[in-house]
Amino acid sequence: MQMEPLAVLKWYVDHGLDETIGEDPVDRFAAPAVVTPAAPGPVAPTPSRAAPTPPPARAPVPLESPQLVEDARALARRCATIAELEAAIRAFDGCALKRTAKNTVFADGVAGAPVMIVGEAPGGDEDRLGKPFVGVSGQLMDRMFEAIGMSRQRDLYITNILFWRPPGNRTPTLAEQAICLAFTRRHIELAKPKVLVLAGGTSAKAILDTTEGIMRLRGKWTTLTLDDGSEVPTLPTFHPAYLLRTPASKRQSWWDLLAIDKKLKELGVRP
Ligand code: URA
Repeated sequence: MQMEPLAVLKWYVDHGLDETIGEDPVDRFAAPAVVTPAAPGPVAPTPSRAAPTPPPARAPVPLESPQLVEDARALARRCATIAELEAAIRAFDGCALKRTAKNTVFADGVAGAPVMIVGEAPGGDEDRLGKPFVGVSGQLMDRMFEAIGMSRQRDLYITNILFWRPPGNRTPTLAEQAICLAFTRRHIELAKPKVLVLAGGTSAKAILDTTEGIMRLRGKWTTLTLDDGSEVPTLPTFHPAYLLRTPASKRQSWWDLLAIDKKLKELGVRP
């Protein structure tokens, strides 16, 4: 079957292949087979002439498992500062998403700021630039907080539950979320925000460990208790990408912004 070039491109994008990673195409079928370590058994005859050198085998990346979630938790618990946590996440190879992402997207804004925002996952722009919420939805989020006099350079600390972009922006699996969440919960403990804002349903459900949808959770304050016993007032709100698709919902998000401002004033953080 012959496909038009545009149809081929669309087919790729529909299957999550929305980034080019090299100038020239590579015919993987023509490449020599990757040699994997042989299982114990009969020894293969040694070739009489030197065989072509196979390409270096990739370091095996473990599959996601409950043990990896435990490993991530133990690793996160050992981090005493945000800098240590960032280094641990950058060195962590237990999340399969890292294999396809260009960058580890850790955080942006001011560590220790009164408001910490946790979104879902880096998108294409964030993956390219290595910072959360720098694409169109992030720009909307910036403008929203500017409307109550807050900026990411001064008052906000921004991260996601996932540190690597899921290919094609697919919804992260529960295993991917659970592994990253171990780090994100520690991230919140170390950042000690006065107020935590959960942007979107995936973030709210994961952090609050609930099956309730964002339509029910949005705009309702709750107290998040972290593993070190600390508590933080937490507000789920709509994701800015949802607001871009559904501008009529901006009215409720405005109420949420006013509620955040009021809470910070009650806590004596804002005049
Ligand atoms: N959406 C998110 O949830 N996080 C980002 O960083 C960007 C888009």
